[in-house]
Amino acid sequence: MIYLDNSATTEPDPQVLETFVKASRRYFANPASLHRLGNEAEDLLESARSQIKDLLGYEQIVFTAGGTEANNLAIRGAAYANREKGRHIISCKTEHPSVLEPLKQLAREGFEITLLSVDRTGAIDLEELRQALREETILVSLMQVNNEIGTIHPLSEIRSVLGRHRALLHVDAVQGAGKLPIGVQERPDLLTVSAHKLHGLKNSGLLAIGKAQLEPILRGGGQENGLRSGTVSVPNAAALAKALRLARPMPHHLEWNAELRTFFAGYKDIHIVSPADAAPHILALAIKGVRGETLVGALQQEGVIVSTSSACSSKNKQASHVIEAIGLPREYRDGTIRISFGAMTTYEDISELKKRFHKAHQLIKGVETT
Ligand SMILES: *Cc1c(COP(=O)(O)O)cnc(C)c1O
Repeated sequence: MIYLDNSATTEPDPQVLETFVKASRRYFANPASLHRLGNEAEDLLESARSQIKDLLGYEQIVFTAGGTEANNLAIRGAAYANREKGRHIISCKTEHPSVLEPLKQLAREGFEITLLSVDRTGAIDLEELRQALREETILVSLMQVNNEIGTIHPLSEIRSVLGRHRALLHVDAVQGAGKLPIGVQERPDLLTVSAHKLHGLKNSGLLAIGKAQLEPILRGGGQENGLRSGTVSVPNAAALAKALRLARPMPHHLEWNAELRTFFAGYKDIHIVSPADAAPHILALAIKGVRGETLVGALQQEGVIVSTSSACSSKNKQASHVIEAIGLPREYRDGTIRISFGAMTTYEDISELKKRFHKAHQLIKGVETT
């Protein structure tokens, strides 16, 4: 099996698993306990936290149970903490559901949400952002890399549009973390990372916090500086630090992406959905008049695992909100698939994909003409 669905989740790195198992065995104590074992667990937790602070360049790290929780904490936490300053929030139509759904809830609670539109490439219009920004805007939430088509939002331009405005900038960096660096100048006030998208474990993530006031979403024992109650998983924290230490930019993804683009351009019925300057590990494409599920199934027959545009939208049969937002021509709308590379993808996988894709394509077209 060739696994090319790394934007849905990645295989855990064996070294990350080893860290997790070791920490679970030796440092199982509650890091909040006052006895020696508790202190040792706390030391490991704090060493993981400080490694992550250094790697990401943040003052404060809150460990969460994944990217969804970190996005909820960032958005609802910032909204509630700043509601006296204003109740307006800006985001974008193509954000992940774990951003859009909390925003919907805030809208029901009296906040005003502006969702920026995107063009055919998934890019926002910076002028639209400038005009949407008002005195009462307290938060701007825009993702680093789109999980369905790979579009990269221009963080440094977004930063300059925000200028000295007091609105906080939250960036869902789940698809970019460890792969695409974020410069010091453009560092967001709030940054979401999920472990399982970078060869770490599921139900583990973090919110990195710069200068920002947040209200907790999960209340209880007051762990994580009161921002996230619940016994902290020391093994998860250590494993996430390990995954982030192992993560690095992968320049070869750019070459493989270019090679696949050239390959797919040879098919008259294929439209490459991802823009040319998208993140190199995500390549979305659509076949005219063929359902995404059909193509995913045919590729699976050939031993290649890819997905329809996103894992979240692929189970409910509606067209994805991202595909809708970019206005893909109707004949392609049902047919988007996403190929995504990870750190374990090899060139062998890419060349096999080309051969097997060709077979799958012939199969589908053969079936369709009979
Ligand atoms: C996967 C994903 C999330 C959710 O992260 P989980 O750890 O699965 O909760 C959020 N945002 C983006 C862009 C993602 O791809």
